[in-house]
Order: sequence, then C-alpha cells, then structure tokens
Amino acid sequence: MPGNKPVLIIGAGPVGLVAAAALVREGIPVLVLEAGPTISTEMRASTFHAPTLDMLDDLGAAPEMIRQGLKGPILQYRQRDHSLIAEFDFGILADVTRHPFRLQCEQFKLTRILHDLLQTRPGYAIRFNAQVTDAIDHGDHVEAVLEDGTRIQGSYIIGADGARSAVRKSAGIEFEGFTWPERFLVLSTEFDFASIIPGLADVSYYADPEEWFFLLRVPGVWRAMFPVAAEVPDEETETDEFARARFARILAGRDDYPLKHRTLYRVHQRVASTFRKGRLLLAGDAAHINNPLGGMGLNGGVHDAVNLVEKLARVIRGEADEAVLDRYDRQRRGVTVEHVQRQTIQNKKNLEAKTPEEQADFRNRMAEAASDPAKAHAYLMGMSMMNSLKRAAEIE
Ligand SMILES: Cc1cc2nc3c(=O)[nH]c(=O)nc-3n(C[C@H](O)[C@H](O)[C@H](O)COP(=O)(O)OP(=O)(O)OC[C@H]3O[C@@H](n4cnc5c(N)ncnc54)[C@H](O)[C@@H]3O)c2cc1C
Repeated sequence: MPGNKPVLIIGAGPVGLVAAAALVREGIPVLVLEAGPTISTEMRASTFHAPTLDMLDDLGAAPEMIRQGLKGPILQYRQRDHSLIAEFDFGILADVTRHPFRLQCEQFKLTRILHDLLQTRPGYAIRFNAQVTDAIDHGDHVEAVLEDGTRIQGSYIIGADGARSAVRKSAGIEFEGFTWPERFLVLSTEFDFASIIPGLADVSYYADPEEWFFLLRVPGVWRAMFPVAAEVPDEETETDEFARARFARILAGRDDYPLKHRTLYRVHQRVASTFRKGRLLLAGDAAHINNPLGGMGLNGGVHDAVNLVEKLARVIRGEADEAVLDRYDRQRRGVTVEHVQRQTIQNKKNLEAKTPEEQADFRNRMAEAASDPAKAHAYLMGMSMMNSLKRAAEIE
C-alpha cells in the first residue's frame, strides 16, 4: 500500500462512516476528519430501503438498526379525503432481498451504531473539531488542510462532507441543478395518527393539488411533512399558529397534536459534475442532493460508499488500475441522474398534480402498478432503489 497512508474521509455523517466501515473491513486504514465536536445527532433521514439494509448487514450494522427502528412493509398513496389510491407491500421483494421492508430509523442512530462498531476495529481513527478547508491532490498522495492550518496526509480523500462540501469546492467541481422555490416543513408529534385514520400505514403519501403532505412513523413519533410556499417568511413557519394550520390539513376539525420537533428544510436537486477528480472522490450529499420524497438521498449515499470502496480497495492493494475509479463516477453519477433525480422529481410531481388530467394519470398509474403481484414487484424494485443498483452494475 502507498506508504500505508490512511484514506482520509472528510465528514462523519452516515455516508462517511459507511465508507470507513467498508474500508476497515477491507483492512485499509482510515482517518475520519469531522468538523463537529462529536458524532452528528441529525434526525433528517429516517427511511432505509431494502438493498441499503442488505449492505449495512454486511457491515454488521443492520441488526442494531432494526432493533432501534421500525419495520414498515406497507406504503400507501392516499387522496386528501383519505381514500386510498394504492397500497404496496414491500414483502413482495422477499425473492431479491434479505430485508423486504422499509426501515424507519433516524440517521443519527446509524452514525452512532457505526462509530461504536468501528471503535473495536483496527485501522479506524477519527478526529473531531477538524474542519477541512482545503483538499489537495499531490498526484501520489493527498493532503487535507484544517481550519487551524494543520496539514494531514493520506492516500486518497473521500469527500463525504455534505451538501456544502469543502472537498467538492476545493476540487473545483460544479454542483449543477436547481433549488425548489418552496421549502419543506417537518413537524413531529407523539400523537398516533393511526388511531384516528383507519388503516393508516406507517408510510403514507397524500396527493393534493393545494397542499400535499406525507405522514411517516418513526419510533415514538409521527413525522408530517408539508411544502411551504416561497412567499412565506421563515419566521412565520416557526409559530404555533402555522404548525396548527398545517396539522389542520391532515384531518378536518383537529389541529391540537402536541408538537415535539419542527424543522424547515430548503430543498434542492443537484448533482456534482464529476464524482472523481484524481485522488479526490465524492460520495453522498457532497455528490448529489434531492428532495426527500421517496427517501433516496442517504440511501444513494450508502450505495455510493459501498461501490466506491469495492474499487478503491482494489486500487490501494495494487489489484486494479486507478482508471476503475472513473467507473465509480460513471456508475454512481449515471444512476443518480437517471434514477434518483428523475424519480424524486416525479414523486413530487405526482403528489402536487394540479389538473384533473394529471391527477387521474397518477391515480391510474398507481392503480395499474398495484393491480397484480408482478406489476407491484416491478414498481417496488424502483421505489426500493434495487433497479438503480442493477443499472449501475451494468455500466462499464
Ligand atoms: C427532511 C429530510 C428528510 C430526509 N429523509 C431521507 C430519507 O428518509 N432517506 C434518505 O435516504 N435520505 C433522506 N434525506 C437525505 C439525507 O438526510 C442525506 O442524504 C444524508 O444526510 C447525507 O449523508 P452524508 O453523510 O452524505 O452527509 P451529512 O449527513 O450532511 O454529513 C456530513 C458530515 O460532514 C461534516 N462536515 C461538513 N463539512 C465538513 C468539513 N469541511 N470538514 C469536516 N467535516 C465536515 C458534517 O459535520 C457532517 O457530520 C432527507 C433529507 C431531509 C432534509
């Protein structure tokens, strides 16, 4: 191995730690540089899809995730009056995955579980309060420069430092795409919506031309997500009146659910112009961001990390040429654009469909997809991101 320098992983978010766990499993030492004082406590992502759980299982993290999470095999699409458009059961994917369900489990649980697992493994080192400001490729090794001027050498850099990635900026890689005018508001409550909405699944998307919403159960709370129009000032969304008015849209006559958390997110669709520049590699939100409808951002980031490590490990061991890293870019960037960006934009369009024709089209497509087991299987292969992984494997 080149001077036995560690791979520098910038960011101890879920994607950085998955990359760390996968490299350490290959016997390759890593040094994770994290800007924060501790492992992140971010709640953001909570949906883990079947193939992601299979990958996390290989890394030893899935059993504890399942213990701390909630298995959600059923996915529903409903109309504003609560009538069912279609219902799907991920159990139908049992022929292609060891985990035929969506797991609802906040992302901070994954980072904690991975960090705890890694503590016991040789080759894992992490440094907190280590904000990287520059990432330099010297041709035969790399250097990360910290805010205080400290310079740290490594063999390669994996930029898993989120949407504002310093690694991406240092490498001069564009982050192409757009920002949606509306923001997304997530309100959490301990109130059990299943107690007042008959047959409500743990994952339920509500289509509505005026204001779609999304109900999702995670351990201990329900999360409700709503779009917030561009003209509404941020401060207005922080009031209890605003939260009550959103809650009132769920079931007529009720707006009194006790509010546990409230977070407003700006939402983007952006993909880095390349996932690789020499020894600088991007994964996760540093490489791509999308709206959260369908729960694909973090899952795609885990798929990046696993794909990348499989190639990088061979390069570091001298078993493959560095050119294989360009295949990482072609495969993962390819499916990010073809599948993840397209699907998440379509998911949003479906829920907000304005004209009666567009609404009927969505209802008909869902009814058709749910009409027999083979069609439902095909639909869930897309929604669980299995198709994007199959497609990536085909890209040379
Ligand atoms: C409301 C919402 C719901 C979502 N739900 C889902 C879902 O259900 N399923 C799903 O798949 N995705 C979902 N996502 C997307 C998901 O949250 C992200 O894709 C995921 O957090 C990306 O992980 P990451 O490790 O790439 O980046 P991050 O989680 O952003 O982690 C980056 C890490 O890098 C550190 N860092 C940043 N800059 C530096 C620096 N310069 N030097 C050192 N360290 C640095 C940060 O402190 C952080 O720890 C959702 C997003 C939102 C907004």
